[in-house]
Amino acid sequence: MANEDEKNQPAESELPADTADRRLYVIDGESWRAATKRGSERQYCYVQTPGDAYFHLILDGEIFLSNGDEQICLNCALRRGLLTTDRLHWQHRGRPSLPGT
Ligand SMILES: [Zn+2]
Repeated sequence: MANEDEKNQPAESELPADTADRRLYVIDGESWRAATKRGSERQYCYVQTPGDAYFHLILDGEIFLSNGDEQICLNCALRRGLLTTDRLHWQHRGRPSLPGT
């Protein structure tokens, strides 16, 4: 009867939107920082969605990732693997090797 429990668990995509986990994790927190767009100056995401011929305008109040001169919207950051919804991503990647060990 162990399989019965699995069947009763809704898949993550079937959960109501208000209970979905929206937490995001930056994979390379040394380089990429979360920032908030402020003001009306035009600012664009550095990458395009494949198939699109335009860069995403980052709007006032929008959260994006920043790495020096590069800015990237959260959709592109997720697609490119700079962000993840996997809370334990650092475990799933394996441990980084420490210098001198
Ligand atoms: Zn983008």
